[in-house]
Amino acid sequence: MSIEVKNAFKYYGEQAALNDVSFKINSGEIVGFLGPNGAGKSTMMKIITCFIPKSAGTVKVCGLDVEEESIEVRKKVGYLPEHNPLYLDMYVKEYLNFVAGIYKLDNKKERVKEMISLVGLDKEQNKKIGALSKGYRQRVGLAQAIIHDPEVLILDEPTSGLDPNQLVDIRDLIMNIGKTKTVMLSTHIMQEVEAICDRVIIIKEGRIVADDKAENIQQKDVLEQTVLVEFDQETSRNKLSAIPGVKSVKKVNGNQWLFAGEGDIRPIIAKHAQQNNLLVLTMTVKSKSMEEVFKELTGN
Ligand code: ADP
Repeated sequence: MSIEVKNAFKYYGEQAALNDVSFKINSGEIVGFLGPNGAGKSTMMKIITCFIPKSAGTVKVCGLDVEEESIEVRKKVGYLPEHNPLYLDMYVKEYLNFVAGIYKLDNKKERVKEMISLVGLDKEQNKKIGALSKGYRQRVGLAQAIIHDPEVLILDEPTSGLDPNQLVDIRDLIMNIGKTKTVMLSTHIMQEVEAICDRVIIIKEGRIVADDKAENIQQKDVLEQTVLVEFDQETSRNKLSAIPGVKSVKKVNGNQWLFAGEGDIRPIIAKHAQQNNLLVLTMTVKSKSMEEVFKELTGN
């Protein structure tokens, strides 16, 4: 187990930023941590990376307690904070040497060279960080996060503020690095979750509201299900909307209707058709986009 969070609470004064949060992340997983602004994502990540203490609960990284064994935890974790705090006056190579020094790496010179090549900073290595674009600064941030070869990588909004090309580059880089590490990344971008993540954890107002594979979350029965049905003949909206369990019915065209309801509403629609001498020609469950699921779960 790479990350284990059990009944974690965090209070800022009276306000609970984390309210009884529990989840586990297995080694090798890439997990998307989603939630609206202020949901508690950064707070959770700062606790996992030993930057701030929790108020209650247990948080472990690779089996080590973040407070009792924080020095060991820091060796195992790489962290790219939301506002990547780089020293803008330092040169790229100089900065990575400095970070390698903090970790007291033996093979400092080779490791810096390796990182520069891995994140694609060869041409920029002798430039000042302040002279780099946001995309290249994120590459520097990623290099500093993995220079000590951590098992776990925590990335807080790694692609926010990037242009579409930079975004694709950084996303590819994360996927590449993620092949050999456990990655937890927070994001607002739903396509990112669909593109990169094995699993999604959604947090709202300090509480976990979903934790599952992306495709499972999108088809979850507890959420509203949408089913497109084509009958062989005309029928009336009134009759269809009276089917118990159906929350809404919309005519698409001809004899095609779009039903919405809670849980799996297909059997009740089929039964209604049978009882009313209607033939069901097609019936398709409409899978939701991550964006729609996110809106449903977080009410945003
Ligand atoms: P997210 O990363 O999901 O946007 P945060 O973890 O940054 O959410 O914040 C969660 C809640 O805690 C928010 O309501 C935020 O205002 C509050 N918060 C975060 N940091 C502090 C702090 N240092 N002092 C007081 N409140 C804070």
